[in-house]
Amino acid sequence: MSTLIKTNAATTATRAQPVQAHTPAKRNNSIKLLDEAQAKTNLLGMTQAQLADYFKSIGEKPFRSTQVIKWIYQQGVTDFEQMTNLSKGLRDKLSANACVIPPKVIHRQYSEDGTRKWVFEVTGGSLVETVLIPADDSKINGRKTLCVSSQVGCALDCSFCSTGKQGFERDLTAAEILGQLWVANASYMTDAQDSLDDVDHSLWENNVTNVVMMGMGEPLLNYRPVVSSMELMLSDHAYGLSKRRVTLSTSGVVPKMYELAQELDVALAISLHAPNDELRNELVPINKKYPLDQLMAAARNYVFDVNPRHKKHVTIEYVMLDGVNDSDVHAKQLVALLGDLPSKINLIPFNPFPHAGYDKSSNNRIHSFSNILSEAGFVCTIRQTRGDDIDAACGQLVGQVADRTRRSAAWQQSIKDRENT
Ligand code: SF4
Repeated sequence: MSTLIKTNAATTATRAQPVQAHTPAKRNNSIKLLDEAQAKTNLLGMTQAQLADYFKSIGEKPFRSTQVIKWIYQQGVTDFEQMTNLSKGLRDKLSANACVIPPKVIHRQYSEDGTRKWVFEVTGGSLVETVLIPADDSKINGRKTLCVSSQVGCALDCSFCSTGKQGFERDLTAAEILGQLWVANASYMTDAQDSLDDVDHSLWENNVTNVVMMGMGEPLLNYRPVVSSMELMLSDHAYGLSKRRVTLSTSGVVPKMYELAQELDVALAISLHAPNDELRNELVPINKKYPLDQLMAAARNYVFDVNPRHKKHVTIEYVMLDGVNDSDVHAKQLVALLGDLPSKINLIPFNPFPHAGYDKSSNNRIHSFSNILSEAGFVCTIRQTRGDDIDAACGQLVGQVADRTRRSAAWQQSIKDRENT
């Protein structure tokens, strides 16, 4: 679910850093050659159960999975030779047959406000992006939220979404999903060259405190790799994040919402954006397949019917589009739609991109809309827009770095055609 997050104030200087291909001398354990990943089994993103099966398959004890998971995620070690509580024989066996390789960083932007963005090249040459947003740059140990992508592009074609305009290429693997978190944490331990060669892994610290599956793609349409990745985010042997700090955002893939409710206890966000079916069919086309009554029933099931002590509320994401979905009438419709569903509503000022076809609602309009929701008893926040200087909404930076899909080309052509008529 693309979040339209923007990441730093226009006045904030950024350091855009295209990452050069590493020479043999610069090669390190954070970025390795793709051919190695293809020839060996990449252990990154494997759940504990999957890793235990792997160890059994190579004639080793399943408990080795716990040791290796701790090395990878709690100390950032990707070189089996450094996993010193494994026997020399096992280290040699792993070095010959397995690898731990995150996706390759080809572009990054670090802002002075602490925001970090990466464009990754994944197997096959596709690009995805990831954004890390600190809550408050004055607090070194404050909240740092990573917005993670689950697919290359997206097939759902929400009308206001930059990622949707790029079309769908493929699902990401668990290694490519979890690798975004691994790289974000590693970035705090590395120098400008991304080298981990001199890092003292005993001092390794994972700085990302929150993860939102809200980047490029619809996570529930790439269900198994997304769930595996979130399991590792929650696992005490891996990242150990609290279930309230791992959020999955969906545009409303209703059957998978029921499946998720049975399988994993994480926070849920719904990318709603419209309070009635007619408008939502236009803005979020998957609504034609799973209309609002079905979506709301699935949300209620998630909150009330499964493990109700833990699933206290749903976050409602609502992008504010000038003259489209931002009237007082829409706000009242939203109040009626949510009813007694425990909800926090996050109003998102639209982040314009070229030829989007929408404008951002005025601040006054957003506040009037917010007041109606607050007066009805909902907790309502207005997302701070940041990052006008780095095209920070999900999908925009990738669109800038490379534009590879046929659908995007068709979309660009349709824009030219419109401009010529
Ligand atoms: S097209 Fe819709 S579902 Fe897909 S990334 Fe954009 S907002 Fe999310």
